[in-house]
Amino acid sequence: MFISSGCPYCGEDVEVDIDELGGTRQSYVQDCPICCQPWEVTVSRDRDGDWLATLRGQDE
Ligand SMILES: [Zn+2]
Repeated sequence: MFISSGCPYCGEDVEVDIDELGGTRQSYVQDCPICCQPWEVTVSRDRDGDWLATLRGQDE
C-alpha cells in the first residue's frame, strides 16, 4: 500500500510503501527516490483505520 507524503529534504510529493501486515506502528529508514536522502519513516494508524506516514529528515 502506498501513502502520499512530502519529502522533508526536497519537498517533492512522494509515495511511501508501507507494510500493512507489519503492525499498526512502524518506524524504519528509507531513501527518497528523488533526492536520495534518508528519511525516518513513522507509520501509524488512526482510530478510523487510516494509515498515516510521517517523514522526517535525519538531522545530526
Ligand atoms: Zn527528497
